[in-house]
Amino acid sequence: MSAKNWPNWLPLRQDLAPLSPYGAPQVPAEATLNTNENPYAPSPALAKAIADRTHQVALNLNRYPDRDAILLRKGLASFINNLSKTTFEVDQVWAANGSNEIIQSLFMAFGDRPALGFTPSYSMHPLIAKVIGVNWNDGGRRTDFSLDLSKAKSEISTIKPALTFITTPNNPTGTTVTLDEISELADVAAKVNGLLVVDEAYAEFSNLPSAVTLIAKYPNLVVIRTMSKAFAFAGARLGYLIADPEVVAAMFLVRLPYHLSSLTQAAAEVALEFQSELLGTVSSLIDSRKIVVSELEKLGLQVIPSQANFILFTGFSQEPAQLWRQLLDRGVLIRDVGLLAHLRMTIGNEAENQKFIAALQDILNGESQ
Ligand SMILES: *Cc1c(COP(=O)(O)O)cnc(C)c1O
Repeated sequence: MSAKNWPNWLPLRQDLAPLSPYGAPQVPAEATLNTNENPYAPSPALAKAIADRTHQVALNLNRYPDRDAILLRKGLASFINNLSKTTFEVDQVWAANGSNEIIQSLFMAFGDRPALGFTPSYSMHPLIAKVIGVNWNDGGRRTDFSLDLSKAKSEISTIKPALTFITTPNNPTGTTVTLDEISELADVAAKVNGLLVVDEAYAEFSNLPSAVTLIAKYPNLVVIRTMSKAFAFAGARLGYLIADPEVVAAMFLVRLPYHLSSLTQAAAEVALEFQSELLGTVSSLIDSRKIVVSELEKLGLQVIPSQANFILFTGFSQEPAQLWRQLLDRGVLIRDVGLLAHLRMTIGNEAENQKFIAALQDILNGESQ
């Protein structure tokens, strides 16, 4: 998408004019495999429980919500403590409308020095930085998309960022960074008084332990999680961070009053009560990922090793935009992430995955004839 021509009468900030809005195309398709959502909808029992709880809340909607979302943050703390055998308290958890709002708050609180990330990675990190007016630096990756640890460490030392972003499993590549590597990066970041932000949007799909286990040792480590992906709750908009209490205290400075509506808080509290149902699809999505990977390899394509609920693949002869369009013509919507020769596909339900494979087969075989 190229930048828009803004009219002269509009006093838009000059630094915003060249930007394009975030825009995964929202087009109807039979298989929607483009935004890394969980394909499995909540059960009728969960939908009913949310309706019952929000009905109670609705009777009080003349009142502002709990500004500090104490009940929800306690619930999130015990959720993480159960998963990772940690002992976080409510003052180490912050919640907001999606992890995107968490990321925005981090830039607002810690944005008077540069930020650094390692691309290709989550495109919203630099975009939110620019919107907030933070100086963003692109550190690179190796050509196989793995993180070059020594290069990353030296970039932290020279740029001295207030915020360094690591996404693991990384979006759009699915590749991971180990806890040992995260420890080394947190050490270097601490030397320049910087925070290391680990975006774990896909952590539940990975077999690596969460970086939350390192926070006790590295107070400058911030872990971001979301209910949008494995937790199958994207529509509710709930993201959170786990960090040292001082980081959470800074979030109070930049949050808007009553930022999390009572309805959102209630829905998320119910979702936590149904956590085993909501996370119950993770292992079958991982199995499906393995099947899709082997089917793609049979078609002569290469897949970057992924620990997430999506795969990045290459080895096709057409331009990514062309293959993307050919798939859409066959009812399958995946994602052109703007990377040379690569496309990203979210693992869907079995029927959607089959449809994707069949469409690819059709396109690639059609060419070789
Ligand atoms: C999807 C995604 C998010 C955004 O999640 P929300 O909680 O829905 O705002 C954050 N980080 C990464 C890396 C993602 O892929």
